[in-house]
Amino acid sequence: MPDTTLVVLGGGPGGYPAAFAAADYGIDVTLVDDGVKPGGVCLHRGCIPSKALLHAARLINEASEAAEWGISFKSPEIDIEKLRGWKDAVVGQLTGGIEGLCKSRGVKLIKARGHFIDSQTLELKSPEGERKRLTFETCIIATGSLPAIPGPLKVDDERVMDSTGALELPDVPGRLLVVGGGYIGLEMGTVYAALGSDVTVVEMTPGLLPGVDRDLVNPLKRRLDEQFEAIYLNTKVEKLTPGKDGIQAELSGEEPRDLGNPWVLTFDRVLIAVGRRPNSSGFGLENTKVELDDRGFINVDEKRRTSDPHLLAIGDVAGEPMLAHKATHEAKVAVGALAGEPTAFDPYAIPAVVFTDPELAWCGLTETEAKAEGRKVEAFRFPWAASGRAQTLGRTEGLTKLIADPETERLLGMGVVGPGAGELIAEGVLAIEMGARARDVAETIHAHPTLSETIMEAAEGLLGHATHVYRKKR
Ligand code: FAD
Ligand code: NAD
Repeated sequence: MPDTTLVVLGGGPGGYPAAFAAADYGIDVTLVDDGVKPGGVCLHRGCIPSKALLHAARLINEASEAAEWGISFKSPEIDIEKLRGWKDAVVGQLTGGIEGLCKSRGVKLIKARGHFIDSQTLELKSPEGERKRLTFETCIIATGSLPAIPGPLKVDDERVMDSTGALELPDVPGRLLVVGGGYIGLEMGTVYAALGSDVTVVEMTPGLLPGVDRDLVNPLKRRLDEQFEAIYLNTKVEKLTPGKDGIQAELSGEEPRDLGNPWVLTFDRVLIAVGRRPNSSGFGLENTKVELDDRGFINVDEKRRTSDPHLLAIGDVAGEPMLAHKATHEAKVAVGALAGEPTAFDPYAIPAVVFTDPELAWCGLTETEAKAEGRKVEAFRFPWAASGRAQTLGRTEGLTKLIADPETERLLGMGVVGPGAGELIAEGVLAIEMGARARDVAETIHAHPTLSETIMEAAEGLLGHATHVYRKKR
């Protein structure tokens, strides 16, 4: 008899929902996580602390922008210790809640690091160093991901941080270099810029957020150009050298030409945010039959089963996109499969949200992907300048885009840039998953005045007659 029927290894937004779902099915389940409390990267050092700080940043920016409407506030006084305390309290509230939910559901929670001895045995090492073995019928691996730091940028100096270091909010550096213009670089850059840092972003590709449709990125880029000290595209950080007066960064690229190439700039702190890698080594997977792809992700099928009959894998360790809600969805698919339900991981639309100001969100097919696939699509862009709600918010730079199949009018993708885009995208996800056509959304009454009307009007636009956008008949 194994010690437990199911082990979930890793207590992030993949692992703990898997354990909860299993308990709800009546499966005997043990959740093993090596953190102080469950919650994983997302709750402790990812989604939640970053969004708390981004909320503070938004408040600072809005207060300063209100001067244009005749409301002036004094410059904010930042009590960094109190801000850090508030952020930590938000995290504590949520992670404590998960511990409580484990108890109420009868999920056995073990704080330990797991190491596979074989496909049905884990060696558990407690924080105190005690070792014991745990045998199981099945294990769901949900060990997440880790920051990827390229060799030349590995510097042993506390001023050179990854996202975890930056979220600790050690201080507000005068000059902050952000390496990588992706999700983390832009979100944390936004936080530090609002708190008062001069933020320089260095991105090696020709544009911020590579892969995202440019019409969505452009309004964000224009605003970040104002918030940040500099954004260098097509540029690489070749070397970081710690010194008494800061970290010297040697940059090479096409901008700014007048500084020579490579050029050297000095910063008080550096945040490296150039991507994450799956956490699939160092815990004994080689003692199982699990197979990895060439990037280190665990190979899984549509039910999240690995090539080892006793092991499933979900979340960041099981492939892109490395997003919390994708991990949670996979948890339900994997546990459903174990419980004999006809589940499969087969989404049409996974939402992605960059919580900058403006927010940027998309789901389903993008125009960039359609072009790469040579697929014919129809897109309609509804400009927020024509939205009553956007005007009342003083935020008319936004854009809502719907992408449809030109033959069937079926919605395939949606993109939004503007405040609240992260909430708006849910309607697009639901429409796409339900196989809605442009007409379904256009003929659904949306409350006025709301930003959600921009989705209805984009759908109307696909049908050729958006109320607030005049297009000459072809
Ligand atoms: P994780 O959350 O990484 O959890 C894995 C857990 O397993 C960890 O607790 C780890 O310590 C534990 N573990 C690993 N190995 C072992 C072992 N051998 N034994 C025991 N325990 C082990 N995603 C979003 O969707 N929205 C966001 O806004 C967002 N913001 C982010 C901001 C930042 C700064 C970062 C870094 C990430 C962000 N993400 C966001 C991504 C999100 O955090 C991840 O996609 C998500 O946490 C993945 O969940 P997971 O369950 O796969 O793994
Ligand atoms: P990312 O993949 O989003 O962005 C990394 C960026 O760094 C890319 O633009 C890439 O071109 C650039 N880059 C790579 N090497 C470079 C180099 N040597 N010099 C300069 N630029 C370089 O990765 P991230 O920002 O580290 O975030 C990791 C992952 O975490 C994301 O992909 C996402 O899955 C997740 N995340 C999600 C959210 C969210 O959902 N809001 C927020 C943060 C993180």
